[in-house]
Amino acid sequence: MVRVVPDVPAIHKRFDYSVPPSLQADLRVGSRVRIELHGRRVGAWVVEDHVAGAPGVPLKPLAASSGDGPPPELVAVAEWAAWRWAGPLSSFLGTASPPRVVRGAWRSGVVPGPTDGGPADGGAGNGGAGNGAVSGAPRSPGGGSVALVDGILGGEITSSRPARADASVVRLAPSLDATLVVEELLHRMGPSGVLVLVPSVGRAAQLAARLRRSGLSVALMPEGWEQAASTAAVVVGTRAAAWAPIPKLRAAMVLDAHDEAYREERSPTWSAVDVVVERGRRDGAPVALLSPCPPVVVTEGRRLVTTARSVERRGWPVVEVVDRTGDDPRTGLFSERLARLLHSVLDRPEGRAVCILNRTGRARLLACAQCGALARCTRCGGALAQDDTGAGLQCRRCGEHRPTVCAECDGTRFKALRIGVTRATEELAALTGVEAHEVTASSDPSDAGALADARLVVGTEAALHRVPRCDAVAFLDIDQHLLAARFGAGEETLSLLARAARLVGPRHGGGRLLVQTRIPDHEVLRAAVHADPAMAAGPEREIRRALGLPPFGALAVLRGPGGPAYAEGVAAVEGITVSADGDRWLLRAPDHTTLCDGLAAVPRPAGRLRVEVDPTDA
Ligand SMILES: [Zn+2]
Ligand SMILES: [Zn+2]
Repeated sequence: MVRVVPDVPAIHKRFDYSVPPSLQADLRVGSRVRIELHGRRVGAWVVEDHVAGAPGVPLKPLAASSGDGPPPELVAVAEWAAWRWAGPLSSFLGTASPPRVVRGAWRSGVVPGPTDGGPADGGAGNGGAGNGAVSGAPRSPGGGSVALVDGILGGEITSSRPARADASVVRLAPSLDATLVVEELLHRMGPSGVLVLVPSVGRAAQLAARLRRSGLSVALMPEGWEQAASTAAVVVGTRAAAWAPIPKLRAAMVLDAHDEAYREERSPTWSAVDVVVERGRRDGAPVALLSPCPPVVVTEGRRLVTTARSVERRGWPVVEVVDRTGDDPRTGLFSERLARLLHSVLDRPEGRAVCILNRTGRARLLACAQCGALARCTRCGGALAQDDTGAGLQCRRCGEHRPTVCAECDGTRFKALRIGVTRATEELAALTGVEAHEVTASSDPSDAGALADARLVVGTEAALHRVPRCDAVAFLDIDQHLLAARFGAGEETLSLLARAARLVGPRHGGGRLLVQTRIPDHEVLRAAVHADPAMAAGPEREIRRALGLPPFGALAVLRGPGGPAYAEGVAAVEGITVSADGDRWLLRAPDHTTLCDGLAAVPRPAGRLRVEVDPTDA
């Protein structure tokens, strides 16, 4: 008899069924089945087999088999994820299951794929021809892929912190080609058991095509589920591919590990980066997290592998910071320096420029009337706003109160910055004499064709995802990104700059980034100027440590009608503190073990409840 979990998110219980002889050969832990439950036929997964039932209790038989599900090893990872993100096991098993019915892929074992040249297990040092590894790839590209892979596989390059065994972090400048590192790793290890995640479907298809051209067998998820389960292909995919049915990982790489696309925002929320790291830890496989700007939660305690400083510098464009502290915001959004840059780009027939400006949800920033400095929190660096009493200032990020006194000049008068953005697109077109295309998150993505030809694009950060290449990117008001009212705003801004850097290409190609700011000394801007993300990571780490934020603590947010009852239950758990915050409850714990054990121990109330572990907007 077997124990199953129904494919019904509201049902957390497990049920035992007997196995009819006709199904016996088909089943193992992870298999998908159909069961009769409360008079209905529903899908389910086998999560335990050879269960010893209570004597004398007759069991219903399984109704049918629905084919393969995740391998048993991955069912165990799903159990872990259900604990880690306080969500239903069935949700994770669903993500780990094939998109259509597959039968017996696991029984065929891992064999080389049709285009593989040879053995499934091309071990390290096996550089001979026809071993399924990349042979035509350049071995010593500018980024020093050989040395980086040495670092990933254990050789020391730059070891700035004590090693944490679960993953290494590879900091690779935006314009350096991460695919070369992937190819070098595959060259050493062969494709079998190797998982590579990228943030977008488009990049996954590109990477798969490039690896196939070099002679590798590639299982592109999710269509390649069966191939991933049964052949020695390298597995490539986006977030959900963290659950690819590889029974035992041999290595994994996550490209642009800082990208928010790796986080599932629907409930249960989870992170593909954390799932891959956990799989690597269980299987003893090296996991490499690549990023031009790895966040502190990713780097903390892990081995950091970097290229030489000169190589990193070459992989960032020239970044120009335009200080607008003394300027009157009403006189315009466009500094003289910006106008000159746009002219120099757009005067060339093929020149292209992108201007980033977030009109909606703009931060209302206060500046000193005397010296022009922005009002910022001395504790966390967030933007200050008038507090409820009107007598002082309050941080919109951490809640700290301050008297209404400028930290720079002791001035006591502040003015709200109201930057004229309404007609920004028309004004830019008038300024440059070039037609300006506007892009926002809600713009029609089918506009891609028109955008590919546009020479001047004005838009929100969504524009950085839509435009394939350009010569210059200007952030018209970077402060609204830097001072956004959430922790992590600085790291998010650096990742925007890195994305923009990729659009304009490396320094030697003449690509330019320009940022207009009233905080020219902000560590994030200095990091971009010096092509040295460590300059931003240091201060970010100190703030996080001082405030007990991840990775120096664990957070969760509760929402919904079930919130009050559940919050009350969790508040009784030792080590977890609960605070009401508007219509939600914020949970804090010293670490994930305390937090997740606590969440698991408290029974769920009847009302709808959303539990978000590691919230992004804390
Ligand atoms: Zn001042
Ligand atoms: Zn603050």
